[in-house]
Amino acid sequence: MKGTHANLSKEFITTSDKTDWHNDALWFLRAKRDKQRDTIEDWEKLRSTAAAIKDHTLSRLADYLQTFEENALQNGMQVHWAWDDAELREITASILRENNARSVVKSKSMLTEECGLNPYLEKEGFDVVDTDLGERIVQLRKEHPSHIVVPAIHLKKEEVSDTFHEKMQTEKGNADPGYLTAAAREALRKDFIKADAAITGVNFGVAESGAVVVCTNEGNADMGVHSKKTVIHCMGLEKLVPGYKELAVFTRLLARSATGQPVTVFTSHYRKPRPDVKQHIIIVNNKRTDIYTDPEFRQAMRCIRCGACMNTCPVYRRSGGHSYHHTVPGPIGSVLAPFYGKEKNKDLPFASTLCGSCNNVCPVKIDLAGLLYKWRQKLTDETSADTSKKMSMQVGSSILKSHKKYGMVTTAFRWVPKSLLQSKFNPWNSKGEDGKKARVFPEVPGETFRQWYKKRQK
Ligand code: SF4
Repeated sequence: MKGTHANLSKEFITTSDKTDWHNDALWFLRAKRDKQRDTIEDWEKLRSTAAAIKDHTLSRLADYLQTFEENALQNGMQVHWAWDDAELREITASILRENNARSVVKSKSMLTEECGLNPYLEKEGFDVVDTDLGERIVQLRKEHPSHIVVPAIHLKKEEVSDTFHEKMQTEKGNADPGYLTAAAREALRKDFIKADAAITGVNFGVAESGAVVVCTNEGNADMGVHSKKTVIHCMGLEKLVPGYKELAVFTRLLARSATGQPVTVFTSHYRKPRPDVKQHIIIVNNKRTDIYTDPEFRQAMRCIRCGACMNTCPVYRRSGGHSYHHTVPGPIGSVLAPFYGKEKNKDLPFASTLCGSCNNVCPVKIDLAGLLYKWRQKLTDETSADTSKKMSMQVGSSILKSHKKYGMVTTAFRWVPKSLLQSKFNPWNSKGEDGKKARVFPEVPGETFRQWYKKRQK
């Protein structure tokens, strides 16, 4: 993923006819979420409870992690700790090697995406097949997921049809979703049968029992876990909940917030390995302790990766997930990204209108707009400056601070030809596919407000 958010969005907006379609597809999910919210009387209380549970768990994270590990070991699971992405990759590869596994079926995991697991395993000679339908589509296209819950939301069914035709020899031009899904299912069944090992992500880790909980709509995690003798669950250390009572709060919130479903089709609890099965849990840090130890940003660790903030964000909906050049896109991604490189991700907290729509839908009540605003202030001081932006801010501030200067500038503005305003002062000056300007500068009234007001006073 290369380029700044501004450039990548421009590409999405100007070279495709997808902007409105993408916007509508995401808004459809947001509307479904609202309908589900209305079925729960105490929805706001549920959100506050979820936030409080997460804060409590985070305040005793070390204790809960220890309890989780002890219980998981007692259940017969093997527990590993990965400090960073490289350790996750190495531990996974060594487990696979130890068990003579050369091919792997993997269910959806943004953590393994974040840690670059697939390319690493492929380089080391393993076959990796993503089994979530959306992830399989983007894997076949050699792309990254553009959304954390619906990874192929940026693609139309015709594009999926072309990809399947090219990679799986399906009927050319057949974009019927039923046909395409059946084709993917048939191919994936063979991959499931052939694979030596299964890898899954983890939605929740239950400290009181040492179980991991994986939520899917396709049952693909279960297909892997129940049919393989080597199983690896990759879990970010923020995924812990104290017990089942607390878990119930999140299972009520997750699917409703994510896709507007009352619950995910499969909510699978893996506690004990079956006889002859080696089941591993890798607990991954990868900068989570940096977020944890930062009092200003710790609340970002509450995130349950439901994607609701993306579905509602007007910038995400109109610019597409790939414009964020970080594994997790959208509002929460822009809050997390600077922890993974301030300089390279300094533009992301600015990719927001700060409208606060994300705050309104977040099931764990993260103040996303507030955190984005905080990053803007910090990154402006801590990273290399965008000189033109800095200069224009200084000029703007000196004009807005002076009554006299403001009057002079707004009067002088009226003498600038409209064509110059359109070309030099309009950031939305680019042309769309229809050859028209994306936005046209509005007519400037002949007199300033002050002149108009003075005349009325007379
Ligand atoms: S920040 Fe909130 S809304 Fe966004 S993905 Fe995380 S939990 Fe969901």
